Amino acid sequence: MSSLFVFEIRHSQFEIAMQFTSESVETLVEQFSKLPTIGTKTARRLANYVLKMPREEVEAIADALMAVKEQVQRCSTCFVVADEDPCPICGSDKRDQSTICVVEESSDLLAIERTGEYRGVYHVLGGVISPLDGVGPDDLRVHELASRIDPSFDDTATNGDLDADADEAGTGASTNGEPTEAVEAQGGRVDEVILAVNPNVEGDTTAYYISQLLEPFDVEVTRIARGLPIGGDLEYADEATLSRALEGRGGVEDGDRS
Ligand SMILES: [Zn+2]
Repeated sequence: MSSLFVFEIRHSQFEIAMQFTSESVETLVEQFSKLPTIGTKTARRLANYVLKMPREEVEAIADALMAVKEQVQRCSTCFVVADEDPCPICGSDKRDQSTICVVEESSDLLAIERTGEYRGVYHVLGGVISPLDGVGPDDLRVHELASRIDPSFDDTATNGDLDADADEAGTGASTNGEPTEAVEAQGGRVDEVILAVNPNVEGDTTAYYISQLLEPFDVEVTRIARGLPIGGDLEYADEATLSRALEGRGGVEDGDRS
């Protein structure tokens, strides 16, 4: 008797809910909620907004979502996300292939491109060294960077204990600074590596690690100037500040490690 009563109440609540919503809307809310910074409330607002949007606009969003999964890849040279491999920057004969600017993510590359000041190429690390988050050098594309400077940078260094002694691993890969034939075949040697990592502890650690790793090679390693706010994010720096930071780049100091 009582269970039937509860069933009737639940059933009527369900009917009421179904008058105002639908399974499709609830699914959309659930999917939006999976995105970062989107809570259930915002997800519901977005879903309601989608309901009111013209069909062609919704299709454009759906197409854009699928396109990033189907068309976007990473450049096999600099690892930026791009629609083609090599990316337009690596593939351009107008870019100076002898200067590599090292950035954490593709979004940092865009920030530097917006300044319109930089004519070299890039290398996207895919993050920074952060022991607290369990991110070590092997989780980043640092060996790929060394291989761009000298393709004979062998995998023994990659498999070795780079964390323990960066300097030792680097020395093992030294080639007396002479460009190998493979480097020349790829379109010239690298003269300068500019580290454009963010000015925070992780960025400092990463800059120090890379400068040590590249020490044996005949390449100048610089870091963009400290005009950027400490702890700030390169991605959000204004163009003028970023231009000045690039212009005033200097050597990587040991003090950067602290
Ligand atoms: Zn590229």
